[in-house]
Amino acid sequence: MPPNHLSAADAIHHAPIAERINWLLELARRHGEAFRGPDAWLARQRYQARHPTAIAALKCMDGRINLSVATQTPAGILMPFRNLGGMFNLGWPHLGEILTQHVMDMVRAGRRVLVLITYHWSRGDPQRGCAGFHYNRAASQDHAWAIRAQLSHLFGHDHATVYPLVCGFETDQEALVLHSTTGATLDLAEHPGHQSETLEAELAALLPDMPAPMRADLLPLLRGNLAHIAEVRARAAAGQRELAIEHREWVICLGRGFDFLHTPNLALIVGPYSPDLAHPIRTAAHIIQSNMDQGRIPDDGFLLLASVPYEQLGVERARAELKARFMGDFAADVIAQAYPRLAERMHRRTAVLDWQARRLELLPTPVA
Ligand SMILES: [Zn+2]
Repeated sequence: MPPNHLSAADAIHHAPIAERINWLLELARRHGEAFRGPDAWLARQRYQARHPTAIAALKCMDGRINLSVATQTPAGILMPFRNLGGMFNLGWPHLGEILTQHVMDMVRAGRRVLVLITYHWSRGDPQRGCAGFHYNRAASQDHAWAIRAQLSHLFGHDHATVYPLVCGFETDQEALVLHSTTGATLDLAEHPGHQSETLEAELAALLPDMPAPMRADLLPLLRGNLAHIAEVRARAAAGQRELAIEHREWVICLGRGFDFLHTPNLALIVGPYSPDLAHPIRTAAHIIQSNMDQGRIPDDGFLLLASVPYEQLGVERARAELKARFMGDFAADVIAQAYPRLAERMHRRTAVLDWQARRLELLPTPVA
């Protein structure tokens, strides 16, 4: 290790931990810089003016699921909510508050909200599916439908303003599958990509209850996904796509605002949502421990990165600092108790994220 044919992006997974951490922080810095530059800012403004439907996505913490990339949507348009296995319960106090607040902010601005409730699976090998659901596709699908029922309870059943849509994500080809309540599906992996002009009619047939302007705003995601699937297939055909790498994560991210992590199988993202926060942290630690035990990553260390976003300076930023420190300490304790061997190799960084600028600001290590 590392074999010569590995690309630079692959080689980093075998580098010493200090080098890997620097690489990750550099990735965050570059992402922030691109995000707040005039080009990306204008692209987002134009996109939102043309497609006013706000889109939120509930998804698994698995790093392979990057819907912006898979739908060729500018960064910052899709609002992600991530947790282990895409497991959510809208009765969780913090999640319910954040999601409701987000929806209300959008609705007050006159926008409809499309909520993508996603689960993921692999066509080629069930073991590449969702570890959070023990690779059981049916169970993760059932869970998505249960969340949909909760969203309907919260935001009403006619879905004219807030529309919950159950979506599968097939990770081998990074293809979306849309589900209707009748059991019908639209599987973009099976769609003849060159006939994307028929998509509009197919979408209308699949989701006749979705408001037409919202369908018009969902369409670019589907067209983007078709183009992306074609690229993924081309890469696979050229031997540039390695599916066998199931897990090689060496980072546990705790909190929100990790959309700079465009690299699959790098990080496990734990949202701050579940009242039993220790459970997803233990699951993530378990995955990292087995990655080390089985030689998929170097065993010299892993990173625990706690980060909390803030929108306003002053009190809100100060509170984000406290939250980030609390979550980092909490996770470190959980890992030390459950995986003491792994805890010895823990490297910690704690940060707040200036949300508008996507600027990650590392907090100094507190003096004891
Ligand atoms: Zn998963």
